[in-house]
Amino acid sequence: MLDLITPKRQSGQIEVICGSMFSGKTKELIRRLDAVSQEGKKIRVFKPSIDVRYSEDRIISHDAKSLNCLSVKNPMEMLNQLLDVEVIGIDEVQFFDDSIVHVVNMLANQGKRVILAGLDMDYKGNPFGPVPKLIGVAEFVTKLHATCTRCGGLASFSQRLSARDQTILLGEKEYYQAVCRKCFYG
Ligand code: ZN
Repeated sequence: MLDLITPKRQSGQIEVICGSMFSGKTKELIRRLDAVSQEGKKIRVFKPSIDVRYSEDRIISHDAKSLNCLSVKNPMEMLNQLLDVEVIGIDEVQFFDDSIVHVVNMLANQGKRVILAGLDMDYKGNPFGPVPKLIGVAEFVTKLHATCTRCGGLASFSQRLSARDQTILLGEKEYYQAVCRKCFYG
């Protein structure tokens, strides 16, 4: 179904893969990047250096697929690493500041395909960091869903199980669960 977003000619584009935790965002990012790698295109993958929960130099999906990546603190750092690169993947994009919007626009304007994955809402149900703006400038947006841990419905919220009040708390199933709207606000 996603073949329609393969560019037919050499023009840049921005794709956003968003959704709650456990919705398969990184898996989908890796799937698209693997597909372009197999076409012989040169790719590069980045993530914010804040995300160290599995590995400093890999992005890893919950189904244990992975790709090498570079961790960067500031989005501008990416610009030096992209000579000859045709396709750029960025995971956990919600942790970058708003300058990421300018950087990915620049890259797309240079003819590159930029694929971003990240949380669209924080654990309070508010839009997360630069993601709403990235959705605004993207050509293609894919919103993925998880299964509600409580009722089995369609989950789009990431609910924190820990009481610590801090937007950035990296963790896995011990800290968060995916829930539907009714269970999130209920
Ligand atoms: Zn539910």
